[in-house]
Amino acid sequence: MSEFPACPSCNENMTYPDGNHLVCPMCGHEWSTEQTTVPETVPQYRDAHGTPLEDGDTVTLIKDLRVKGSSTVLKMGTRISNIRLVEGDHDVDCRVDGQKFLLKSCFMKKA
Ligand SMILES: [Zn+2]
Repeated sequence: MSEFPACPSCNENMTYPDGNHLVCPMCGHEWSTEQTTVPETVPQYRDAHGTPLEDGDTVTLIKDLRVKGSSTVLKMGTRISNIRLVEGDHDVDCRVDGQKFLLKSCFMKKA
């Protein structure tokens, strides 16, 4: 078994390293070893319409949101600036009227 990945061109397992490259002696294919590293999975954050969201974006709520554990309701159309994206079920960390909330990106759209 080769410790190197199979040739992406002909699928032979004869790959050997040559500097920063991997070479397949069977078909002559050369490719960068950097392509063989698994890309870091960056979680994708999207609003209700599928528009990608980024840290610092401004969004508006597309429905009234009752905040869990309180009587606060964030009204549809509320504008929230400078959101911060976090991992988890509630993926948008933000402040509304000075209060900190964790909301779901599927209930907002990018402003
Ligand atoms: Zn090959």
